[in-house]
Amino acid sequence: MKSWLSRLVNPTVTSQLSNRAEESFTDLPLASERSNQAAVPNRQELIVQLQQSCQKQLELLRFALKLKTAALLWVGPESSQLSLYTCSSGSINLNYGPYPLGIGMTGILKEQAEFRLAPVRDNSPAIPYYPSNKGIGSFIAMRLLIPGNDGYRGDSLGILCADREITTGWSKAEHNLVAMTAEQLISNIQMTRQMLDSDRKRHAYHRALDGVRKLNTSLGLNSTFAATAEAIHSVVPADFLAISLAEGEQHRVAYAEGEKSALLAEQSFPLEQGVVGQVLKYSRTLPENADYRGTLPVFSEAHLFADYRSLMIVPLRREEGPAIGALIVAARQIEAFSQTCRQILELVATQVAIKIDLANLHEQINRMATIDTLTGIANRRAYQRGFEAMFDRAKRRSSALYLILCDIDHFKKINDSFGHPAGDQVLRQVAKQFNQVVRAIDLAARTGGEEFAILLEGTDKKGAWMVAERLRKLIEGLEMKFLGKRVAVTISLGIAAFPQDANTMEKLVSCADRALYQAKASGRNRSVHWNKSS
Ligand code: GH3
Ligand code: MG
Ligand code: MG
Repeated sequence: MKSWLSRLVNPTVTSQLSNRAEESFTDLPLASERSNQAAVPNRQELIVQLQQSCQKQLELLRFALKLKTAALLWVGPESSQLSLYTCSSGSINLNYGPYPLGIGMTGILKEQAEFRLAPVRDNSPAIPYYPSNKGIGSFIAMRLLIPGNDGYRGDSLGILCADREITTGWSKAEHNLVAMTAEQLISNIQMTRQMLDSDRKRHAYHRALDGVRKLNTSLGLNSTFAATAEAIHSVVPADFLAISLAEGEQHRVAYAEGEKSALLAEQSFPLEQGVVGQVLKYSRTLPENADYRGTLPVFSEAHLFADYRSLMIVPLRREEGPAIGALIVAARQIEAFSQTCRQILELVATQVAIKIDLANLHEQINRMATIDTLTGIANRRAYQRGFEAMFDRAKRRSSALYLILCDIDHFKKINDSFGHPAGDQVLRQVAKQFNQVVRAIDLAARTGGEEFAILLEGTDKKGAWMVAERLRKLIEGLEMKFLGKRVAVTISLGIAAFPQDANTMEKLVSCADRALYQAKASGRNRSVHWNKSS
């Protein structure tokens, strides 16, 4: 059985309306949504529901007041034009717009909340959805105003129109019914907006949470930056994104993507410069309302973002303590970042700060695990790992591997005469010389107190000898002075080769050690290649 409502509506017009409705369920009353938040899965469904419920309201009004047309017009976002959003009409000759706002009766409604006309004449203000006022006896229109909020940019304006053939003026009861319908329409639209808003917020928080989860799986600094960028992109529409880290009186751009990122990456700026400097200094999000006019220096006077209209710089800080850096997010679009965006970004920033701290610590631990902190060259652990890998490779390829063990001569004396810090100074200077003689494929390490080792691949006996002698001479030539006295620093070196001298790692070490002992025994400051008499 047909519903009572469908029987009331002129069948021609109903089908005309539904056809139009199917091809474009316009989202006019919702269209001023901030685009960054529009990705709500059931948005289309809500748009259809809203239009249908508005249309039913209009059908009821049309039936109750015996109208020719009940129509809801709406102004598009950032637009000076009106369009017919939805209607119930007995006329098949409707103009759906857009019509310029301010002409005819819409001009009057810019000034006043409602407008009544009875009788309507040919030269009365034009009713926009008709080709002419012909055949219309009386007309009433009311303004629907919905203020913008966090999810919607600017105020939205709608106009409820009702017209009929009779020229009689609108009675109080009729006027009240139109006003009630207007209220009902506003409430429909606001409810849909609220539903979309809360869906959007829920989705934004979900996406941010997913991003934060990914952050938790990243260990190093670079993967932390990449995960941060991903998390931010899933929440805000950023055309530019950067992370700058505080370093003393400066901050350094550690990560940047988007326009000018190549120019900015790894650049340092003083803390008193630009908005980023202010954010780091005062540890608060700036600019206040995320508005940007393209004139404020972001990093410095030379780093304006002329085409950008939205900017948000959030301090990276833990629960307490100063900001360790800043998150810089910018968009070309005006008002791209809502309050929700800001709240989420601040939440993400706390997580990022913790992650950066952890990543720094992790890198430090990694470095400490392989680098000797006193001299900055590989430590014993790195030597052992490298030795195993190089030995395996030499065995597999049947190629040679040379081990040179080095020991500083009479080092104890240096310590005893000039103190431990002087000894440390010597160790650092000696270690520096290793970098001069080894190639990238070689390994030089401090293996103990004043003992060092070099592993050489792809060389021969002569080549290894030359490396040893070059190093010995370099160290012999070091000009070191303590307490005004020039201190002679020399080293002794023992060399052994795989597979010529030894066929296991242990034997190779033992041969080189014995050669070193021979170098010491025969007067120090010399290189000895292992031989049977060593
Ligand atoms: P030789 O020519 O026989 O090698 O004599 P040496 O004095 O170098 O021999 P020895 O092995 O007896 O002395 C090594 C000294 O190195 C003992 C120790 O105090 C010192 N030493 C070990 N590690 C460090 C360090 O990190 N810093 C300083 N300053 N001295 C260290
Ligand atoms: Mg020693
Ligand atoms: Mg020594």
